[in-house]
Amino acid sequence: MLSMDTLLELTKLGAHMLWPVSCPVCGAVGELLCEPCLRSLLRPPLPRCLLCGEVIPCKIHKSDTARIHTGAVYAGDMRELVLTLKKGKYKALGPLMGKALASVFPRPALDLLVPVPLHLKSARRYNQAELIAKGLGEVWDIEVRSAACWTVDVPTRAGMGAAERLSLSSEVFEFEDVSGLRIGLVDDVCTTGSTLSRLAKAAQKRGAEVAGAFVLAGNSFVR
Ligand SMILES: [Zn+2]
Ligand SMILES: [Zn+2]
Repeated sequence: MLSMDTLLELTKLGAHMLWPVSCPVCGAVGELLCEPCLRSLLRPPLPRCLLCGEVIPCKIHKSDTARIHTGAVYAGDMRELVLTLKKGKYKALGPLMGKALASVFPRPALDLLVPVPLHLKSARRYNQAELIAKGLGEVWDIEVRSAACWTVDVPTRAGMGAAERLSLSSEVFEFEDVSGLRIGLVDDVCTTGSTLSRLAKAAQKRGAEVAGAFVLAGNSFVR
């Protein structure tokens, strides 16, 4: 005779065979990530200054400076989800997260969304920032274009010290001609904000007005 526990495990196994995905937060089968879980994870921390990464109002720049809008603090389940997306197992998580992110901010007046590009030697098969941007673009009906790329092979963010990151100039990015366009930058994770501020400067050099940045998860602390 099978014990109740064994029976439960077998039932779960059967369900898993029928629906080989399950929500990584609540475990619901047949769901890549269920809507209530995704929404519960999105609690935007304070916006930050796109030019210096400080919480708004920053001490250096004007109050109307472009902002970094973050969907959630990079911790707990949100951190796990971002890592799952990066590992490349569930590519479809990217647009899902982008769509949810779009629901927590008012639609911005933009011509173009530009994801932070993948590093030149990245082993990833896709750019997770681009997938998030696609979700945002779909909900907001804004064009998404990978209009920038790295010009140099810099170490990945995880392997870089803060000083080294801040010393990077906007020259590390090459932007397509975006003159006259009002653009928004998109990334999956933002820590110091230095990548976004350099990308913003590179876009401005090519004639764009950078209205802000949208990031799935980031730090909430004031440096
Ligand atoms: Zn769930
Ligand atoms: Zn600032």
